Amino acid sequence: MSDVIVGIDLGTTNSEIAVWKDNEVRIIEGENGPILPSCVGIDSDGNVIIGEPARNQYIAYPERTVRSVKRLMGSGTNVTMNGMEFTPQEISAMIIGELKRMAERELGHSIEKAVITVPAFFSDVQRQATREAGEIAGLQVVKMINEPTAATLVYEIGTEENRKVLVYDLGGGTFDVSVVNMEAGVVEVVASHGNNALGGDDFDQRISGFITDYLMEEHGITDIPENAMARIMRAAEDAKKALSSQPFATVREEYLLEKDGVPFHLELELSREDYHRMIEPLVDETMEAVHFVLKDAGMVASDIDEILLVGGSTRTVLVQQRLEDMFSMQPRSEVNPDLCVAAGAAIQAAMISGDRVHAVLVDVTPYTFGTAAIGEIDGLPTPDMFVPIIRRNTPIPVTKSEVFFTAVPNQEAVEVRVYQGENRNAIENLEVGRFRIEGLRKGPEGQEIIAKFSLDANGMLEVAAIEKATGLEKHITIENVLSGSGNDNITQARERMRDLLGQEESSSQQGPQGAQTDHAARKAEELVEKARAMLDTAGDDDREDLVDMIDAVTTALESGDEAALDAALEELSDLIFYLES
Ligand code: AMP
Repeated sequence: MSDVIVGIDLGTTNSEIAVWKDNEVRIIEGENGPILPSCVGIDSDGNVIIGEPARNQYIAYPERTVRSVKRLMGSGTNVTMNGMEFTPQEISAMIIGELKRMAERELGHSIEKAVITVPAFFSDVQRQATREAGEIAGLQVVKMINEPTAATLVYEIGTEENRKVLVYDLGGGTFDVSVVNMEAGVVEVVASHGNNALGGDDFDQRISGFITDYLMEEHGITDIPENAMARIMRAAEDAKKALSSQPFATVREEYLLEKDGVPFHLELELSREDYHRMIEPLVDETMEAVHFVLKDAGMVASDIDEILLVGGSTRTVLVQQRLEDMFSMQPRSEVNPDLCVAAGAAIQAAMISGDRVHAVLVDVTPYTFGTAAIGEIDGLPTPDMFVPIIRRNTPIPVTKSEVFFTAVPNQEAVEVRVYQGENRNAIENLEVGRFRIEGLRKGPEGQEIIAKFSLDANGMLEVAAIEKATGLEKHITIENVLSGSGNDNITQARERMRDLLGQEESSSQQGPQGAQTDHAARKAEELVEKARAMLDTAGDDDREDLVDMIDAVTTALESGDEAALDAALEELSDLIFYLES
């Protein structure tokens, strides 16, 4: 017998269980990790199966499997599984029972009490049905709390000041957005909106539609067997997840099906850009709900102090971009968005038990890392637009990549500058490294170069540039980027960069030709630095000329075209002379 109270997130797609133990939140792991798919089924031997195995049999045996039962809670509608009828409470109780067993196995004692979370919009009847599900599973439900409240507890525990928090929760099959007020440690949901038929599954559908269209249009395949369809759906979800951290994903399924008696292998590339186009209407719909909820709460975007991301689908880059555009702040997601609500339920449970609780700590990067590219700042063209790749507060270790494009035809090289900081102007940030990738394939401008950043928990940043078409790769490793130098200690970091640059230079020096190019390169660096310093004070026309010329110099430098470099340097030098006088 134990007095431990567990926290349960009983989700539409997935469920999780957590507990406050040894002064921290512990997420319970089952056989397949901490996420239990909210699926129940009967297998071919007549046994009840819960979680992953039930989810796996859904496509083949939908009549023997139940998913998304949360949508039916309190509705009075029963479900049929293998010819037998069950109430939604009974199905939910099986899921809760499995979570309880997971916890008992890991903790080594029985569990009798739980806090269970419910959506803020759940009616009393739906809440009552959830409580019953817990009781059928043999648990005393000591409290039910709203999901956005749980998420807020995870992030804001210990905060005494008054905060207005927007909790944006996009899971597999549901979407909720709530405005939460936190005052003197008390969390209250002010307004809530949502759509319980919108989520990551719809994103998967868009991708699987794209794949089946491709099979039909490019290969004339219209008859897709059930098992091939199941593989397509899985592959679509995998591609979607990959696109949250990289600009391209390849869907590769060998022996997917047979076409005219011959095995057909699927290989199809999807870019993040095309994927975003597919899901844009769905994301727009969620943003409309955000507007509604602010209106209901009598607030405007600038009243919100913090945005919290909950639910696995909030890893989608487009979702984060839209929220950032609307609120001009970076949403927080450092606590795993799949596990955040269960963690909050465990914190609430600990508070009920009288434990002293504190905020959940995760290893995150305190700085943003990125590179520079030609772009616009405040509508003005610049060669130094900062492109963040790993954002501040991202849990580490992490790997993220972005695509860039060559600027001129037959460009032979690209210089990758690595910065730490938050300023939109890269040169206002701290340059922590720089390297060149050379020997690019000849071709028109717009060749894709992928910049890949990997940051580990020891503060080691590895940056790679990869030419997508050929796989040509160059990378550098920068040590101790998290050592707390911040922007205060720029000199030290500059020295580190100079050391790095020194190494790069010495390794590329190859006799007189190299020395000659080096001289031009140094002159170019000097002039470009001077020109950049003038950007702030120059008039619009001069500024545009400066940007064009900086661009011309950098491009000539990158392509190794000495004549073009000389010409560009002369022009830039003239302009600087003219502006100085
Ligand atoms: P939840 O219901 O909160 O567990 O969220 C499940 C949904 O999150 C599913 O649709 C997943 O496919 C989706 N998901 C999980 N990881 C990612 C990711 N890295 N990028 C985009 N969606 C994800």
